[in-house]
Amino acid sequence: MNITRRDVLIASAGFAAAPLFSPPGLAAPLPREADIVVIGAGAAGIAAARRIIAVGRRVIVVEAANEIGGRCLTDTTTFDVPIDRGARWLHNPDANPLVKLARALALEMVVAPVGQKIRIGRRNARPGETEEFLAALVRANRAIEDASRGKGDIACASALPKDLGDWAATAEFVLGASATGKDLRDLSVIDKVRGGDRGAVIACRLGLGTMIARLADQVPLALSTPASRIAWSNRDVAVETAAGRIAARAAIVTVSTNVLASGAIKFAPELPKRQLDAAARLGLGSFDHIFLQLAGNPLGLARDDAIVEQSSSTKTAMLLANIGGSSVCSIDVGGAFGRDLSSQGDKAMIAFAVEWLIKLFGSEVGASVKKSAATHWNAAPFALGAMSAASPGGQPSRAVLAEPVGAVFFAGEA
Ligand SMILES: Cc1cc2nc3c(=O)[nH]c(=O)nc-3n(C[C@H](O)[C@H](O)[C@H](O)COP(=O)(O)OP(=O)(O)OC[C@H]3O[C@@H](n4cnc5c(N)ncnc54)[C@H](O)[C@@H]3O)c2cc1C
Repeated sequence: MNITRRDVLIASAGFAAAPLFSPPGLAAPLPREADIVVIGAGAAGIAAARRIIAVGRRVIVVEAANEIGGRCLTDTTTFDVPIDRGARWLHNPDANPLVKLARALALEMVVAPVGQKIRIGRRNARPGETEEFLAALVRANRAIEDASRGKGDIACASALPKDLGDWAATAEFVLGASATGKDLRDLSVIDKVRGGDRGAVIACRLGLGTMIARLADQVPLALSTPASRIAWSNRDVAVETAAGRIAARAAIVTVSTNVLASGAIKFAPELPKRQLDAAARLGLGSFDHIFLQLAGNPLGLARDDAIVEQSSSTKTAMLLANIGGSSVCSIDVGGAFGRDLSSQGDKAMIAFAVEWLIKLFGSEVGASVKKSAATHWNAAPFALGAMSAASPGGQPSRAVLAEPVGAVFFAGEA
């Protein structure tokens, strides 16, 4: 890259110091050069940009959507409280760097009650039944752990003990679709185990999307600017967008594995098959929220109570009640069932959620619904799914995706 042109750029735009927010629809003066172009303004892209800024390099983040956050997206308008349409929980608060950053921003964090409560039909599980369920979960987890030390990276489903009895489907839902967006038959044992314990969780009262947007305060970025093509070599890259072309020493690509595998961004030369296969093996599971605002707390539950039912199949859901102390509840569906339901649209999703709650809490729930909304992450064009988890045999793909391809680096959840 030409040093003189770089100097001109810095002098003319005050580039590194001034955030380049481009309101949707407004043609922003996209820089023609940077040290590094980051593709995507989700958690990973913003984290990368902050680090690049911290070491005094010039970065520009190009984001396809008209807002910051990617799959961390807070909806502040539908209900009278902020609602996370994507990720809500930060896991392992003691070790999670985002928790420290949130505190530095003086954002209020809310610790969630640990674990789920169990519903069996219209009643709560008795203590003995809850213990049975927890024992089934522990046995299932142990069997998956044992299998992860075996020869092959098999599916979690084939590692499950066969005698989990009445709790088999619930354990399968809690460990699979509800935790990763994938059913256990579609999930690698090694990936599941390396994913670690996600027991303790904490949320940001204003929403995780709000928090990621705040962390982007000083980051130069261009919204509504999808990268369409990346020409790369071992020395540099050129990132093409409808607003212009940016030459840089490197690109950090943080789009989801499904977006990467979809070919929405063209690479020249084409990406090696090794990377594309890795993205496909780390494809996104399906996970969606169905939000219901219920007047008068007809469920009789406390703030952030998480409920699962004893179910005979994985066609079930997880309830997060009274989110952050509000009257909004989220009924979360995932895996193959959630994918099918979500493809049927809002009406089918909301009907399922209401019927499911009526089955567990009684018919008065139906009349208490004041407002509803649902997410459709599989259809969201810049995500194409919810969260990445390796398919059986796919765990080594994470290391493959971490390899640079010339001056292109992949980053993000996968
Ligand atoms: C419903 C749901 C619930 C979840 N719950 C949790 C949870 O509680 N806890 C948790 O830890 N995780 C959760 N997750 C997963 C979590 O949201 C993701 O792991 C995380 O947000 C991924 O961040 P990322 O930056 O890697 O990717 P993304 O957030 O997908 O960011 C990539 C960015 O790239 C942009 N982009 C795409 N194409 C282009 C292009 N061509 N040019 C420019 N930009 C482009 C996208 O718009 C996006 O902003 C959940 C996800 C969903 C969907």
